[in-house]
Amino acid sequence: MTSTEVSPPETTHRPEALADSIRAAGLRVTAPRLAVLLALAESPHSTADRLFASVRTDLPGTSLQAVYGVLAAFTAAGLTRKIEPSGSAALFERRVGDNHHHIVCTRCGTVRDVDCAVGAAPCLTPEDASGFAVQAAEVTYWGVCPTCQVELATTLSSAPLLLNKGAR
Ligand SMILES: [Zn+2]
Ligand SMILES: [Zn+2]
Repeated sequence: MTSTEVSPPETTHRPEALADSIRAAGLRVTAPRLAVLLALAESPHSTADRLFASVRTDLPGTSLQAVYGVLAAFTAAGLTRKIEPSGSAALFERRVGDNHHHIVCTRCGTVRDVDCAVGAAPCLTPEDASGFAVQAAEVTYWGVCPTCQVELATTLSSAPLLLNKGAR
């Protein structure tokens, strides 16, 4: 580990640290809640389906409905954040409270965090907020991820006549 960036410490993946954060959010610690939080720690910006798939191997009795219930409780308690980029199922993450934004690949749907543009919410001050007390600005940047850029470049150079559809 280098000390270049302020990223969440790996220690937050430990079960006891996860249990602590569930308790700190005012929730009771249960096996499904722990499992979902661990899965989220390992793959941020996951859908409920994807979390269910990773949770069910350890907890075969868990249902997708139970995972939705856990995520709803987490999000209501401020333990997780739910984002809904257009065209995507709802995604969940543990990074909360910093008003960070997201950049989404228009080709493969990969999502990455983008730090708040100016540092504190709301980082975009509207010209006229119509009298509203603004609390947050949700920004989604759209673009093509590095992997897709490489794949597109390869596709374009090898098949110049097939460049209007990315589907395969
Ligand atoms: Zn991509
Ligand atoms: Zn994020």
